[in-house]
Amino acid sequence: MTDTEGTGMMTGTSEWRSHHEAAILPALGRPQRLLVRGEGALVWDETGAQYVDLLAGIAVNALGHAHPAIVEALTAQASTLGHISNFFASPPQIALAERILALASAPVGSSVYFSNSGAEANEAALKITRRTGRSKIVAVDGSFHGRTMGALALTAKTAYREPFEPGVPGVVHVPFGDEAALRAAVDADTAAVVLEPIQGESGVRRHPAGYLTAAREATDSVGALLVLDEVQTGIGRTGSWFAFQDPHIGEGVTPDVITLAKGLGGGMPIGATLTFGDRVTGLLTPGQHGSTFSGNPLATAVGLAVLTTIQDEDLLARAADLGGRMRTALAALPQITEVSGAGLLIGMELRDGNAKAVAGAALDAGWIVNPVTETRLRIAPPLIITDDQLLGFADALPGLIASVAPGAADAEGGA
Ligand SMILES: *Cc1c(COP(=O)(O)O)cnc(C)c1O
Repeated sequence: MTDTEGTGMMTGTSEWRSHHEAAILPALGRPQRLLVRGEGALVWDETGAQYVDLLAGIAVNALGHAHPAIVEALTAQASTLGHISNFFASPPQIALAERILALASAPVGSSVYFSNSGAEANEAALKITRRTGRSKIVAVDGSFHGRTMGALALTAKTAYREPFEPGVPGVVHVPFGDEAALRAAVDADTAAVVLEPIQGESGVRRHPAGYLTAAREATDSVGALLVLDEVQTGIGRTGSWFAFQDPHIGEGVTPDVITLAKGLGGGMPIGATLTFGDRVTGLLTPGQHGSTFSGNPLATAVGLAVLTTIQDEDLLARAADLGGRMRTALAALPQITEVSGAGLLIGMELRDGNAKAVAGAALDAGWIVNPVTETRLRIAPPLIITDDQLLGFADALPGLIASVAPGAADAEGGA
């Protein structure tokens, strides 16, 4: 049966595509499907075709789609108090900030600035670093920090930055995984080192052992800040509330600032910038930063529901356990040469490359995955995904890879 809910009069594939092309700025690229409904780890398109969502809106839908806790929090808050501006405070805003600080084990004097996206969370972090009186930032090759001008300057990929030059000055990128280069780049002019505990957009890459320790030592030695971008890794994704809390990832390091977004709202747009301790918290003074929607009641009420549900349903342990089993299953496949990540943030290197075609075949077969590079797939499924939904993909993957291998169509008689 065809489900046309939410699509108005658009029923045919070509029809929604032409409407999309005529109305939406093409900067985002071509959408793959028109999705109209979701439930748990499943989504449906306008033809009624069903997909297992192994990407979760890029590590956003931690509780999957249409989770009752989110629906309830959002409707209750919307029918109580939706928006108030920063001239006023609201109960969910205060409660969410306190909860995040507690989960981060942040010391007294720490604080939260709320925004509406990952890029904005990083913009706030950047403004904090400028208040050190220094403007040099050391970031890492392969990093992704967002698309606004400041966050873009931190982002390594030149293809993203070059069309918009001149960018925000002062950012130096050091080679990935090179601890000596990192230490050498941090000097008395350095305001901060900014890095992702695990790089998401470059393929779910772990820094070598000792790297975060080196970043902490180098920044401490010159009085610079260590900013960890946990927009993708935070909120249970890697099996801890925040990746830096996992001793194998964070190495016991305490950052000065962490930034959050994606999973925090479970689908509601929200970002957060945490300052650790009085010294960092005091760098921005009243009036120096803000946003109309900062910490609005709707987004913060949903954020609270997300954190409460992760806690109540023990989803950190679930992410660690199920993610571990999935990585083991993937690593056993001869078509996969390397598996990376932690918890339910997983990268896999395809022996024969062709990641885009494999992801396309997966989509046709009902799996949403992300070809994060030419040779690598990334998955970041909802933390509530079932064993069968996730592990089923490891079973299906060899067939999907075979279906796009050169000559596969001939062998199957053009099927
Ligand atoms: C997605 C992402 C961002 C940008 O977040 P937006 O909400 O898209 O602005 C920043 N940093 C990291 C590590 C991300 O994964």
